[in-house]
Amino acid sequence: MEVIPIAPRGFCKGVFNAIRLAKQTAIENPGVQITILGQIVHNRFVVEALGKYGIKTLDNPKSSRLELLDQVTDGIVIFTAHGISRNVKEEAIRRQLIVMDTTCTDVLSTQALIESASLAHQTVFYIGKSGHPEANAVLESYSGVYLIEKIQDIPSLDNRTEIFVTNQTTMSKNDIEHIIDAIIKQYPQAHIAREVCAATRLRQEAVEKIKIADALIVVGDPKSNNTMMLAKIAVEHNIKQVIQIESIEQLDTSILRKDMKMAVTAGASTPHKLTQQIIDYLKTYDFDNPAVLPKVDIHTLLDD
Ligand code: SF4
Repeated sequence: MEVIPIAPRGFCKGVFNAIRLAKQTAIENPGVQITILGQIVHNRFVVEALGKYGIKTLDNPKSSRLELLDQVTDGIVIFTAHGISRNVKEEAIRRQLIVMDTTCTDVLSTQALIESASLAHQTVFYIGKSGHPEANAVLESYSGVYLIEKIQDIPSLDNRTEIFVTNQTTMSKNDIEHIIDAIIKQYPQAHIAREVCAATRLRQEAVEKIKIADALIVVGDPKSNNTMMLAKIAVEHNIKQVIQIESIEQLDTSILRKDMKMAVTAGASTPHKLTQQIIDYLKTYDFDNPAVLPKVDIHTLLDD
């Protein structure tokens, strides 16, 4: 079996920075309650590994960030890389919590564009995913923003309306173009700011460039939008078999064949060690005497 690691893969700068800040906060504040509102990045192994640093993650998909904040009575509250709405930030400060904001700079720059468009009284179309924390932060911060998940969501407004279009940073660049084309057709005057971040785009382009693989393993959490977009793009590019797994513990070895070319990539929130463990296992796989699948070592997962 030939194993083809795809580059780039794994942690982007925003995820790396958010995890570094969380770890540093825990190390510098022994004995202080540290709580993250939601998963710092969408990866359950990262959440578990941060738990070993004494950091508590409040995660309930049915609760808003403001509702989660209700459960924090003291100490330090960490906002995740996906961004946070103004009212949650203000409420945390009002309650005299110490705030650590790990919002990615790429998310902040998209929010700044929306802020400018709102101040200029433009109508904002935000292409994103309903319920995703990055989209929620935008929708909670700016009134009158239209969330566009699919072409059918484009509203019918007065055709002279000044429209500003932007998007969640981790969307499929191809899906975005599809929706933008439909918006321009309806509103040729729309101002467009394509905001798929460089990390997401480069990982998607690398998958599109795969020419010779029989199968692709995408390592990442199903909650991670950029992971799911990598798998989607691989399917759209006719890679015969696309397998999305969270770690080596989910690898189904019955799919492996001696004569296959197996590519491996990972979402931007997937720790390098999870992906490397799979690559190393596949590279040394003995079809006559297969090794037992190893376990994930949470204790060393986030070591530098
Ligand atoms: S995927 Fe992009 S927007 Fe999200 S944390 Fe990484 S660099 Fe930032």
